[in-house]
Amino acid sequence: MPQRIKMPERHPEERNQDFKQVNTGYTQEQAETEARRCLQCKKPLCVQGCPVEINIPGFIKQIADKNFNKAITVLKEKNNLPAVCGRVCPQENQCEKFCILGKKSEPIAIGNLERFTADWAASNIKDEKNTIKSNGIKIAVVGSGPAGLTCAGDLAKLGYDITVFESLHDSGGVLRYGIPEFRLPCDVLDAEINTLKALGIKFVFNCLIGRTKTIQDLFDEGFKSVFIGAGAGLPSFLNIEGENYNNIYSANEFLSRVNLMSAFKFPDFDTPIHRGKNVVVIGGGNTAMDSARTAKRLGAQSVKLVYRRTQQEMPARLEERKHALEEGIEFIELTAPVKFLADEKGFVKAMECVKMELGAPDASGRRKPVEISGSNFLIDADVVILALGLHPNPVLPSLVKSLETDSHGYLIIDEKFMTKLNGVFAGGDIAGGSTVIEAMGMGKQAAKNMHAFLKEHIHHPPDDSAEG
Ligand SMILES: Cc1cc2nc3c(=O)[nH]c(=O)nc-3n(C[C@H](O)[C@H](O)[C@H](O)COP(=O)(O)OP(=O)(O)OC[C@H]3O[C@@H](n4cnc5c(N)ncnc54)[C@H](O)[C@@H]3O)c2cc1C
Repeated sequence: MPQRIKMPERHPEERNQDFKQVNTGYTQEQAETEARRCLQCKKPLCVQGCPVEINIPGFIKQIADKNFNKAITVLKEKNNLPAVCGRVCPQENQCEKFCILGKKSEPIAIGNLERFTADWAASNIKDEKNTIKSNGIKIAVVGSGPAGLTCAGDLAKLGYDITVFESLHDSGGVLRYGIPEFRLPCDVLDAEINTLKALGIKFVFNCLIGRTKTIQDLFDEGFKSVFIGAGAGLPSFLNIEGENYNNIYSANEFLSRVNLMSAFKFPDFDTPIHRGKNVVVIGGGNTAMDSARTAKRLGAQSVKLVYRRTQQEMPARLEERKHALEEGIEFIELTAPVKFLADEKGFVKAMECVKMELGAPDASGRRKPVEISGSNFLIDADVVILALGLHPNPVLPSLVKSLETDSHGYLIIDEKFMTKLNGVFAGGDIAGGSTVIEAMGMGKQAAKNMHAFLKEHIHHPPDDSAEG
């Protein structure tokens, strides 16, 4: 059995100095060789592992046959953002986990092939003319993250007149303000969003639904249905002594300043950020890895990642952990902060920690970290980044009480993705998702159900054969 073709990547010592992409992508020859490893299963389990149900063997077969044009057509039947997914999806827990090849050797590199196909299309296919016949029915999408973009794209393909309302000044949600350039360059994201704009989707920025406009305003303006993909943008905090000292950031603020507001270009751009020498990041997820690797690229001499469990329990993607370690991030496992110390001006200078050990499993099934008493020690830090997880964005639910949330703040939706408000649907992190592809899968399911709802509830049912 031929070996899986490794994704080519830049040398760690070179790449941890800049924001250019770490993975450089398959060549055509590498993609074809990898595609030929696919067994083309009659009942492909990989598809069951994909929340948007891409015809995986179908697009891989086209690569093996050098039909890249057809490969992208097959991919785009189900996925509006293949260049994004090919870069950031945790394939090891999804499609690739189910690949039969994985039983005896390594699974087919589905994500790498998806990225190859999307990048090939971006360089070789000119914008296609929009041939979709509009049905004139207006739908509002709140939030331009992967959930909103997917829902918008699928509904636009059915002929709906879509407007996406976004509270920030640019589109993409976490794809733009969270995930750094070295994993997902903005021009790659822009190219995918431009293909959606070519379907006629309109974007309204700096518009916070709930405040700038209410949901009722949207219905009054003639929108017949609303999709909410407002994400999980509310950071968690430790609630320990000294957490408000200067230069202690939430990962959300730190990454937004760098990615969305180009703080790394300061003073050419006017958003400053403190570039620490001794940076400590607290957490073990993708956000923690992104923050640590970003801090290193901003010039930190030492970046430590403090986590209360061990590497095995870290929720971050395997590849991000590997890349972080290669780039010189030091992992300090089984350690938790108890208080921060500052200088006389209120700038953080150290963090007091305790050592932990793993006890019995908790509700998440992972072994619970338990403090070892008397194990206190200090870690020097002039910047601390808290990457402790995010909660659902509370703005909209707090203003529109009838939307209803569960005890964790997630919007309550039924099996058709409808919220407690008639005609208002939701998906993505605000409704319990936690990855890009889950958000996309929920956006897709919601779009299908919105179409069915509109067919049933409005006077002139939309035409099903919109694509002309
Ligand atoms: C740093 C970081 C790294 C990550 N890395 C990965 C990864 O490698 N792989 C992976 O699969 N997942 C990753 N994730 C998780 C993934 O990004 C999210 O699951 C996904 O983005 C959720 O998509 P969404 O569309 O639900 O919300 P979001 O991407 O959060 O987008 C929501 C959008 O709605 C807007 N909005 C909110 N409220 C309103 C309102 N009232 N009116 C108008 N607009 C509003 C927000 O400004 C935002 O643009 C990462 C998350 C973070 C934070």
